[in-house]
Amino acid sequence: MHISQLPKGVPTKMLIGGEWVNAKDGAITEVIDPATTEVLAGVPLAGEAEAMDAVSAAYNAQPEWERRAPRDRSEILRRSYEHMLERSEEIARVIVLENGKSLADARGEVAYAAEFFRWYAEEAVRQTGIIQRAPSGSNQIMVLRQAIGVAVLVTPWNFPAAMATRKIAPALAAGCTVILKPATDTPLTALLIAKILVEAGVPAGVVNVLPSRGSSNIVSKMLHDLRVRKLSFTGSTPVGRTLLHEAADTVINSSMELGGNAPFLVFADADLDAAVAGAMIAKMRNGGEACTAANRFYVEAPVARAFSARFAAAMGALKMGPGLADGVELGPLINQEAQEKVEALVGDALDRGAHLLSRAEPWQGKGYFVQPAVLEDVDPTAQLLKEEIFGPVAAVTSFETEDEAISLANATEFGLISYLYTGDLAKGLRVAEALEAGMIGLNRGLVSDPAAPFGGVKQSGLGREGGQEGVLEYTEAKYIATSWS
Ligand code: NAD
Repeated sequence: MHISQLPKGVPTKMLIGGEWVNAKDGAITEVIDPATTEVLAGVPLAGEAEAMDAVSAAYNAQPEWERRAPRDRSEILRRSYEHMLERSEEIARVIVLENGKSLADARGEVAYAAEFFRWYAEEAVRQTGIIQRAPSGSNQIMVLRQAIGVAVLVTPWNFPAAMATRKIAPALAAGCTVILKPATDTPLTALLIAKILVEAGVPAGVVNVLPSRGSSNIVSKMLHDLRVRKLSFTGSTPVGRTLLHEAADTVINSSMELGGNAPFLVFADADLDAAVAGAMIAKMRNGGEACTAANRFYVEAPVARAFSARFAAAMGALKMGPGLADGVELGPLINQEAQEKVEALVGDALDRGAHLLSRAEPWQGKGYFVQPAVLEDVDPTAQLLKEEIFGPVAAVTSFETEDEAISLANATEFGLISYLYTGDLAKGLRVAEALEAGMIGLNRGLVSDPAAPFGGVKQSGLGREGGQEGVLEYTEAKYIATSWS
C-alpha cells in the first residue's frame, strides 16, 4: 500500500463522546487520492454499535450544551472559525488529496466553510422569539425557539468541508448536539474539522463523527432511535427520498439539500463577456461537481453560436492535472464511476446528433480525469439535459422567445438554482420570478453565501441552510398561551 502525502495531524479515527476510537470490529475503509488512485489512509468504518454509542454521547451532552449561555456557544464557534483560517492550507490540501479538486477550488471551499462558523457565531446570540397580544385581546401569545435535540447530519463528498460546517455551525448555535456521517470517499476533511472544533472548546459528545459506507444501515438505525430528533441530509435526490421514507417511521424533522439540474439562460441583450465568465464559474466551480453547477445552457438564437464558441475556448484553455500541481485549474472527478458516467452522457448526446466543439485528447495515465467539453445542438431527449452531469461538460441549446426560455428552464423535476444573464434588469427580475428554483443567479455565476438561505424547491430539497433561516432548521417553536392582566 502506497501512502500519499497526507499532512500530519489529520485524525484517522472516528470521534465518539470526545474520544478518537477505532471500529469495534476493526473494519476500515481506504481513502483514495482520485488524481493517482493511490491510498491516502485507512479510516475506521462505523457500524451499528458505534452509531448507538454516538447517539448516547450526543443525547447525554445535549441538555448541558443547550443550557450553555448563547455567548459561550458563539465564542466556541468564533474560535473554530479562527482555527480553520489558521489551518486553511492544511485543510485545503486534505480536500485536494481526498476529493481531487484544484488547490484554488479547495482554498475557496475552506474560506466558504469557515465562514459558516463565523456567521453562526454571530447568529447564536441573535435568536429571537415572539410575544404578541392575542387578536381577541384576552391573553398573550409567546413563542420560544428551543433546540430540537440530537441531529444526524449526512454529507456528500463534493464539498467535504463546507457541507459539514453548513450543518454543524447552525446546529451548535441552536443548542443541538450532532452526529456527522461524512461521505465514504471523503471522511478525512470532516475528521480534521471535528478536531478543530474539539480544540476550540466543543465539549465531549457535542460533535461526533462516524465514517461509514452509504450502503451501511447506520443512518437508518439512528433514525429509528427515539433520542434522535433531526435529520439534515445533503446529497442526491434518490438517497434523499430513501432517507425521507426512513425518517417517516419516527416522524423525524428532516431538512434535505438534494440534487440540481440548473439552467443557465443567456439573452441576446446580455454582456456576452460577462455571460461567458459567469458560465465558467457556474459550470466549472469544483470541476463541475457541484449541486449548483449549470447543467443546461439556453442561449437566445442570435448570440448562441458566438456564446458557444467563446465558452468552448475558455473551457479548452483550462489546465487539467492533479489538484496540487502548479497552475492546475481542473482536477480529476471523484472516482471511476463518476468518470464513466460523464463520458457515457457525452456519448449519448453525440449519438443523438449533438455537435462537439473542440475537445482535448483523453487523459493518459492514472486518475479519474475527464477533458472539458462543450456540446451544441443537444437533442431534448439526451440524458445530458435530464441528469445532473457532475463533470466538466456543458450542453448549449438555443431559444427564440422569453416564454420558451422559461419553459425549457422549468422542464425538470429539480429546482435548486437557475442562472440568467440579461442587460435588461426588469426582464431579469420578471424571468427570475417565473423560474422554479430556490435560488437565482441574476447576472452572476456564483450565489453561495453563508449569509443567504441556500436550498431548492421541487425535488431539490426541503428547508434552507445558511442565513437567518439556517438556524431555525435546528429549533422548534414552543407556543405558550398566557395572560397576565
Ligand atoms: P449521495 O446521495 O450518493 O450521498 C450523500 C451521502 O449520503 C453520503 O454521505 C453517502 O454515504 C450517504 N448515503 C448514500 N446512500 C445512503 C443510504 N442509503 N443511507 C444513508 N446514507 C446514504 O450523494 P453524493 O454522490 O455524495 O453527492 C452528490 C450529490 O449531492 C449530487 O446529487 C449533488 O447535487 C448533491 N448535493 C446537493 C447539495 C445541495 O446543497 N443541494 C450540495 C452538495 C451536493
